[in-house]
Amino acid sequence: MNHLNKAAGIAGLTLMTLLTACTGNTRVNPFLEDWDTPYGIPPFDRIEYADYVPAFKAGIEQQQKEIEAIIANPDAPTFDNVIGALELSGSILSKVQGVFYNVSETENCPELMAIEEEITPLVSEHSDNIYMNKDLYKKVAAVYNADQSRLTREQQMVLKKTYEAFERNGIGLDEAKQARLREINTEMSAKTNKLGNNNLAENNAFKERFGISVSAYPTAMTTTEDRSLREEMFKAYSSRGHNGNENDNRRLVLDVMRLRIEKAKLMGYDNPAAFILEPKMAHDPETVDAFLDGIMKAAVAKAKEEVAEMQEVMNQDIKAGLLPAGTKIKPWDWWYYAEKVRKAKYDLDEELTKPYFEMKNVQKGVFEAAHILYGVNFERLEGVKLYNDAAEAWKLTDADGSLLGIFFCDYFPRSTKRSGAWMNNFRDQYYDKDGNEVRPIIVNVCNFSSPAEDGTALLTVDEVETAFHEFGHALHGFLTKCHYPSVSGTSVTRDFVETFSQFNENWAFVPEILAVYAHDYRTGEVIPAELVEKIRNSLKFNMGFTTGELCAASILDMKWHELTAEELAKFTDAQSIRDFETKVCGEMGLIDEIIPRYRTTYFNHIFNSGYSAGYYSYLWAEVLDMDAWEKFVADGVFNPATAKAFRQTFLEKGGSEEPMTLYRAFRGADPDPSALLRARGLE
Ligand SMILES: [Zn+2]
Repeated sequence: MNHLNKAAGIAGLTLMTLLTACTGNTRVNPFLEDWDTPYGIPPFDRIEYADYVPAFKAGIEQQQKEIEAIIANPDAPTFDNVIGALELSGSILSKVQGVFYNVSETENCPELMAIEEEITPLVSEHSDNIYMNKDLYKKVAAVYNADQSRLTREQQMVLKKTYEAFERNGIGLDEAKQARLREINTEMSAKTNKLGNNNLAENNAFKERFGISVSAYPTAMTTTEDRSLREEMFKAYSSRGHNGNENDNRRLVLDVMRLRIEKAKLMGYDNPAAFILEPKMAHDPETVDAFLDGIMKAAVAKAKEEVAEMQEVMNQDIKAGLLPAGTKIKPWDWWYYAEKVRKAKYDLDEELTKPYFEMKNVQKGVFEAAHILYGVNFERLEGVKLYNDAAEAWKLTDADGSLLGIFFCDYFPRSTKRSGAWMNNFRDQYYDKDGNEVRPIIVNVCNFSSPAEDGTALLTVDEVETAFHEFGHALHGFLTKCHYPSVSGTSVTRDFVETFSQFNENWAFVPEILAVYAHDYRTGEVIPAELVEKIRNSLKFNMGFTTGELCAASILDMKWHELTAEELAKFTDAQSIRDFETKVCGEMGLIDEIIPRYRTTYFNHIFNSGYSAGYYSYLWAEVLDMDAWEKFVADGVFNPATAKAFRQTFLEKGGSEEPMTLYRAFRGADPDPSALLRARGLE
C-alpha cells in the first residue's frame, strides 16, 4: 500500500494527446479509458504487458499537470483548492498502480519484473518532484498555518498528513541535499525491488529442492520424521538469500541499510528507526525497544519450559533406539516435537481437525462472522474475468443493501506468487470530484495448503487464523466511511493497522462460528464439541516459541535500523551479517533452539515491504486487539452494541482520527499492556 497519491476519477483531457501515438491502431490503452465494467472492476482481459509503462508515464504526466494547475490557481489557497485537489489528482496513476502492484505480487514473471525495473525510478522521481516542489509546499503550508477550525476532523487529519509528508520528504533541505536525497530514493527503490525478486527466486529454489512451498515449511517440519531431512530443510530455509549465488541478498541488505542511514542523517535523525518511528503510535525507538524487551523475557521463560517438555519426548525416542544417546533439541526439532507434546497434552492431532477446515467451508465461516457482527452480505460474482482464474470475486453489501465493495480472493500458492499472505486495495474508497462515492476493490492473497486432486484444500489451525486475519484487514477497508483516499480504510499507521486483522482472528474458534463452518467436508458432520474444546485449549500452546521467534525478528529489525554509519562500516565480509544476528540474538536472550522468524537475508517485510523498523507492529497492535477483545468477552462476544461501537469507532474511521483517540473512545480507557501476555499465556 505504498501508493503516494491515490485517487481515481477520469481526466478526459489528457487522454486525447496520448492516443496520437497509436496511429493506425484503434486499440486504446485500457488504463487511459473509463472502465465501463461491472463495479469498475479493472478490465483484466484487455490489459497487456505493453500497457503498463505508457500508462505509468501518462499518469505521471497527468498528475504533474494537475499540480501545476493547483500552483497556478490565482485564488487564495484553501483546503479544497490545494489539499482536496491533491487528493483527487493522479487518477490514471491510481488505476495503473492499483493493478500493477497487485498483479506483480501474484503473477511475477520476467516481463513484469522488467516493467517494475523500468517504472520504479520513474515513480520514485515523480514522488520526489511532488514533495520537493517548493511552490506546491507554499500552498500546502498556507492552508496548514491558517485557521483550521472550520475544517472537519477528517480534513484536519488529511492536511496534517500532507504537510508532514512534505516535511518528511525533504522540502526543508537545501538544493544539494535534495539532489542527494533523490539519488538515494531512486537507488533504494531499485535495490529493495531486486532484493524482493531474489527472495522469490530463493523460495522457488526451495520448492524445487524439497517439493514444498516455503509457506508449507512449518507443516513439513511438523510432520517429517526423518531428522536429517528436517535439518536439511531448516538449513536451506534459513539460509535463503545467503548462498553466494546470483540471488544472494547480503550485499543488497548492506547497500539498502547504508542508504537508509544516510537518508535518516540527511533528515536530521540519529538513525533510520528514529526517522521512521516519529509519526507512528510508538513514536520512538526507545519505546519500541522497551516494549519488545518485556515480551522477549516472558517468551524466553516460557520457551525454556517448552524445550524441557520436548526433551522428555525426545528422550523416549532415544530410549526406543530411534536417536543416539545424548541427542538434544535443535531448531529443526522444534515443530516436530512440539506437535508430539501437543498430541500428548491436548490430545489434539491436526490430521483430525483438517477435514473440518476445508477452504470453502472456512471462507463461509469468515463471511458468517462478518455477517453476524456487522450485517455484511456476500454474493459471488460469476463470470467476471480476473487477473488469474484461480482468483474469485464477491460483491459485499451492507445490511441496508448498499454496496460496500468488491472482494477478490486468491488463496493458493503458485510459482509466480510471493510467499505469505496479505490484503491490498485495487481501488480505495473516497468521494470523487462530483461528490459521488467510490467504493473499494480489495484483495486477500494467501498461500494455503494446495488443494488435493479432487479440489479439496484442508487447512491447518494456523491457516484458518490467517484467513480470518486477512479478512479483518479487508473489513477495515470495506466498512470505511471517509471522504479522502489518503485516510480511508487501512490508511492508518503501520503499528495500528494490524489491530483489526488480529482482532478478527478471534472469531475463528468461537464455538457458535465454528458450528456454522467447521463441517467435515466428506460427511457434513459439524465439528464435535469435544474437538472444539481441544482446539481452544491448545491455542495458547507453544507460545514461548511462537512469541519468541516473532519478537526476535522484531528486535532484529530494530537493531538493523538503529545502526549508525560508523557501525555499519564495520560490516566488511560475507560473515558480518551472521555475526550481527548472533550478537543481537545473544543480547536479547534468545535461546539457541529458536531463530528469528525471519533472518536478515529473507526478511522481505523490512527490506522490501514497508515494515522497516515496523515489524514490532504485530505485537504492538496485539495489545490493542486483545484489550478490545476482553471488552467483547465481558459484554458477550455477540453483543450487537459492542460490535456496532467497534464498527463505528474504528472500522468506519480509517485514518481520519488519531489512533489513541479512537481507542479511548471505544474502550473508555487506555489499553492494558498486559492484555497481550494474558492472551498468550505468558503472564
Ligand atoms: Zn496483517
